[in-house]
Amino acid sequence: MAEDCLFCKIAAKQIPAKFVREGERVVAFEDLNPVAPHHVLVIPREHLVSTLSIGPAQRAIAGELIEVAADIARERGFADNGYRLVFNTNRDAGMTVHHIHLHLLGGRRFGWPPG
Ligand code: 5GP
Ligand code: ZN
Repeated sequence: MAEDCLFCKIAAKQIPAKFVREGERVVAFEDLNPVAPHHVLVIPREHLVSTLSIGPAQRAIAGELIEVAADIARERGFADNGYRLVFNTNRDAGMTVHHIHLHLLGGRRFGWPPG
């Protein structure tokens, strides 16, 4: 656990969140400021900073984030209509929390290209 990492603290239940999944390696919780009818953050329990932290040893966990997001989309019934998965990385993407997180966005149409 990284000191002063908001998402490490959420995963450790030191800060409350509305959990959707509490797995061994991965947890998912509702985004505090949702930008879509469904907005869930899927994170590894392990502190990884961003997509730039993914190497051979992290491939499995990166895949698990995507798998968990797809499971939640199916369970909530918007998988067939579609959804968007986003990993923001660093300044130009607007990353604010430096613990890797996959945004699962669903329940409406999303524009392309993104803003
Ligand atoms: P980023 O911009 O880094 O990709 O996304 C960070 C996300 O974390 C944002 O969508 C923001 O709403 C969410 N967030 C920030 N602080 C908290 C918090 O304390 N609890 C929860 N559940 N979400 C948060
Ligand atoms: Zn962390």
